[in-house]
Amino acid sequence: MALNAGSSSLKAALFSLDDDQALANCLVDRIGPNGVFTIKLSDGTRYQIENLNLESHVLAMKAVINQLNEIWKDLDLIAIGHRVVHGGDFYSRSVIVSNEVIKNLESLSPFAPLHQPHNLEGIEIAIQLFPDITQVACFDTAFHRNHPWVNDTFALPRAFYDEGIRRYGFHGLSYQYIANELRIHSPYLCEGKVVVAHLGNGASMCAMQNGRSVASTMGFSALDGLPMGTRCGQLDPGVLLYLLDQRGMTAAEITDLLYKKSGLLGLSEISNDMRTLEQSEADSAKEAIDYFIFRCQREVGAMAAALGGIDALVFCGGIGENSRLVRSRICERLGWMGIEIDYTKNQKNSQIISTDLARTTVMVLPTNEEQVILRDTRSLMALRGATA
Ligand code: ADP
Repeated sequence: MALNAGSSSLKAALFSLDDDQALANCLVDRIGPNGVFTIKLSDGTRYQIENLNLESHVLAMKAVINQLNEIWKDLDLIAIGHRVVHGGDFYSRSVIVSNEVIKNLESLSPFAPLHQPHNLEGIEIAIQLFPDITQVACFDTAFHRNHPWVNDTFALPRAFYDEGIRRYGFHGLSYQYIANELRIHSPYLCEGKVVVAHLGNGASMCAMQNGRSVASTMGFSALDGLPMGTRCGQLDPGVLLYLLDQRGMTAAEITDLLYKKSGLLGLSEISNDMRTLEQSEADSAKEAIDYFIFRCQREVGAMAAALGGIDALVFCGGIGENSRLVRSRICERLGWMGIEIDYTKNQKNSQIISTDLARTTVMVLPTNEEQVILRDTRSLMALRGATA
């Protein structure tokens, strides 16, 4: 099982030992008094139960397990791979969960207070319910761990770096998946200089060379870089000083502002959802999209500069995979870096959407973070089996 325990939702994908296609995808949304539980099976069957009273992650997890047990009477869970947002400086790859791993991950909670405690809760519940099976932690930061020091540090006194105030970078499971896909399907491009734009509710870019992260737009937290659904993206730190000093805002209020009220939602005052904004006639919706596009164009330039060139630009994430408008508008002003989009291919959502003669290949590759969790969990299980 690949498990993603978020603040108010729990996603679980169930796999058999030898098949990469999920047998079932479960989502418990809005954990609380009005929870919605959806389960989709590989044959297309879909169940949805609304208004569930799943007040905690434990109850949500139990609901998932009970439902799966109903469907597969002989369900025998042998491993759970957990998505964990922060592996800090500790982990540059997925690891089997142990007491020491949990202790290390707990120490990182202050770095990602909105996500890490929920990820850890998922691990604790899974251990409670299945104490004898292999539990694996897969990190959003791991893919970036070996990027160069200049992309790892801020220009603060060194003691802050030593304390862990660094540019970690996130969305690593998605970037790992894209790197693997490129390695299989376009090895020549994978060896080259690739900018990957993961544009979803959360959005970031990664500069990759040889399938490894060189730089990323996200840094210490998942706030930096591109504007997102409700997150601000890059912000002058002077703004924070002003909010603290002059407006007297508390840390909790600023956290709420930057994580939940900014980005597309804050600018448009309509929605955090790109589809809704694309359909809106309001000026504020258009301006929110304009800002998103402009910052994406800037960051493609910055990522290409970090690489010293660009061979391919890859779009993924809900917006990157689906929004023809966003993709074509981002590419429109990037002709100077050899990017030229074929509008027919873009409209068809083809895998390659650049023109045949363009110097830089532009691709759309659907990402799949669960596949990375699945792969890593299987290989760590095999390793454990081999060393047992
Ligand atoms: P998350 O980061 O939560 O995983 P997703 O990757 O699912 O988010 O992306 C969600 C975003 O993708 C939303 O802004 C949604 O509007 C956008 N999106 C999905 N489909 C389309 C579409 N056809 N056109 C434009 N935007 C889309």
